[in-house]
Amino acid sequence: MKKEIILTGDRPTGKLHIGHYVGSLKNRVQMQSDDRNQLFVMIADQQALTDHAKESKKIRESLFEVALDYLAVGIDPDQTTIFVQSQIPELAELTMYYMNLVSIARLQRNPTVKVEIEQKDYGEGVPAGFFLYPISQASDITAFKATKVPVGNDQKPMIEQTREIVRSFHHTYHTDILVEPEGVYPENEAEGRLPGLDGNAKMSKSLGNGIFLADDTDTLQKKVMSMYTDPSHVRVEDPGQIEGNMVFYYLDIFGRKEDHKQIQEMKEHYMRGGLGDVKTKRYLLEILERELAPIREKRAIYAQDLGELEQILKKGSECAQSVASKTLSEVKMAMGINYFE
Ligand code: ATP
Ligand code: MG
Repeated sequence: MKKEIILTGDRPTGKLHIGHYVGSLKNRVQMQSDDRNQLFVMIADQQALTDHAKESKKIRESLFEVALDYLAVGIDPDQTTIFVQSQIPELAELTMYYMNLVSIARLQRNPTVKVEIEQKDYGEGVPAGFFLYPISQASDITAFKATKVPVGNDQKPMIEQTREIVRSFHHTYHTDILVEPEGVYPENEAEGRLPGLDGNAKMSKSLGNGIFLADDTDTLQKKVMSMYTDPSHVRVEDPGQIEGNMVFYYLDIFGRKEDHKQIQEMKEHYMRGGLGDVKTKRYLLEILERELAPIREKRAIYAQDLGELEQILKKGSECAQSVASKTLSEVKMAMGINYFE
């Protein structure tokens, strides 16, 4: 018997970047290796469509890119169920029932959705699907009776909403069939929200400020060489600043234990003056290349057989559907709408 059921996922709005890698992918691979855990990884295409309705082609392409990224970092379809949200209609059906348990006022109070609506400049034109996506997320989580949901801090309100829906369902239908999930948040703030190359915002698929797992060596080199450092460090001999310098920020995150001594020495040299940005960037490039080259190579191998990739997603989706369908039956029975059984 598995002890923890873990559900995580990503929106197929582009390829995955090194922020996803340190913020969640590495962690998933680690959880997968523990026999007590059962992992479900969902590619949330329906959620991506709530704010990209007109870009279904991009969502379709990104679906396969995200799946390749998963395999490349070591998510193993023999151990982890990788599935596609839209292929499990039971999830949408659950949403129909949960919608009746949540007030519009409660949805309007969700701080993450509030911020997202402002960022997207919807004005009066907020798509209903977008407004409701926290309910749909509750369906995804509860359909698998997930006990743990590892997510970034911005997802806290969604987990809270899910827990409320579970309690409300139990209370309304006098049952206890669902599971109240626990959110698991990154301990290290820097990894939980890796900044982009410009140092301004969170690295994001949609902001063009990321290093993607699929980037080739040339692209990686160009991106590292363009990174934001210390604007007042003009001449090599000038003393430089470490704080806010993205090169050192990334070195701290991607450097391994055996690199710490050299990183520390470089920091001191940089602050004293006499160490140029190009040298620090070359070192970062080496460190990143060491981490990313094997991922890139594995990705290229999987990309040669898209038929196999499709089979993995199809099989994972069938497996996920059988679990979700069982939960839906229990839900309908608890509600007394299993008329013909
Ligand atoms: P979009 O721009 O479409 O919103 P995104 O880059 O924000 O894409 P999501 O698919 O929304 O990526 O997020 C998937 C998961 O990856 C989330 O659980 C989130 O916590 C994590 N994540 C996203 N960006 C970062 C980042 N810069 N650093 C660490 N974790 C991240
Ligand atoms: Mg996002």
